[in-house]
Amino acid sequence: MTSAGVGRLAGKVAVVTGAASGIGKAICSKFALEGASVMMVDRSREGMEQVQPCLSTKFDNKHHLADGDVADMAFAKDLFSNVKENYGKHGDVLVNCAGIIRDSLLINMDESRFDEVIQTNLKSVFVMTKSFINTLNHPGGMDPASIINISSIVGKGGNTGQANYAASKAGVILFTKSVGFEMGRFGIRCNSVLPGFIKTPMTEQVPEPLLEKVRKQIPMKRFGMPEEIANACLFLASDESSYVNCSALEVTGGMMA
Ligand code: NAP
Repeated sequence: MTSAGVGRLAGKVAVVTGAASGIGKAICSKFALEGASVMMVDRSREGMEQVQPCLSTKFDNKHHLADGDVADMAFAKDLFSNVKENYGKHGDVLVNCAGIIRDSLLINMDESRFDEVIQTNLKSVFVMTKSFINTLNHPGGMDPASIINISSIVGKGGNTGQANYAASKAGVILFTKSVGFEMGRFGIRCNSVLPGFIKTPMTEQVPEPLLEKVRKQIPMKRFGMPEEIANACLFLASDESSYVNCSALEVTGGMMA
C-alpha cells in the first residue's frame, strides 16, 4: 500500500461541506483515499455527482451526498439524521469548508453582500457544528470527534476589498477556539485551518496583475494547491493530531505570517 493510502481514516465517517469544488473536493478525495466514508455536502448536487465516482472505495468505504444550504438549520438537522441512517452511526469528523466571497471596497459594499458572506461563512459553521455535536450526545456522555473549520489567512490579517470576508473568517477562528474550550473535555477537538492563496474556482477570477502582486508577497513564491490544504485536514481528522485542539493552522507558504 502506498503512503497516500495507509488508511489513517479507515472506519471513520467524515461530513465535508463545500464538497463539489476546490478545497472541499480535494478533502473528500484525500479522506476517501485514507479509508473514510464521506458524506459530501454542497448546494451543487450536479457538482457532487461528478466528484462522487472519483472517490476511492478501496477500504469498502461508502460515499453519499446531500445538497442544500449549510446555513439552514433544518437542512443540517436532516443531514445528520441521514448520516446515521446511511452509516448506522454518527459522524467522526466534520469539515466546514463551504464558503463564498463577495468582494468590494467598504464604500461600495451594500448590506446584502455583508449579510450573505456572514451567513454563508460564519453562521453555517455554527449551524453545522451545533447540529453535529447534538448527534454526539447520548445518555452515557459524548463521543469523541474532530471538527475542522476552514477559515482563511485573511481572517487573521484582513484584506482590502474583503471586510465582509475577513470578518466572517476571523469569527470562524474564535468560534473554533471557543468550541474547543467547551468540548475538549469530551475528546471533541475543534481546530481551524487558515489557507493562504489556493488555486481553486474561487480564485480563478483574480486578474493576472493582481495575481503577480500576491505571488511576490508569498515567501514560497507560489500559490497553494487544494491537496495541500487537504493534507492539513487529514492530519487534524486523524488520530495523529489527538492532542491538537483550539489551534489555527496556517497553510500559506508563509503569507501574512
Ligand atoms: P470554491 O471552489 O468556490 O468551493 C466552495 C464550494 O462551497 C462551492 O461548491 C460552493 O457552491 C459551496 N457553497 C458555498 N456556499 C454554500 C452554501 N451556503 N451551502 C452549500 N454549499 C455552499 O471555493 P474554495 O476555494 O474551494 O474555498 C473553500 C473554502 O476555503 C472556503 O470557505 C473559502 O473561504 C476557504 N478559503 C479559500 C482560499 C482560496 O484561496 N481558494 C483561501 C482561504 C480560504 P457555489 O459555487 O454555488 O458557491
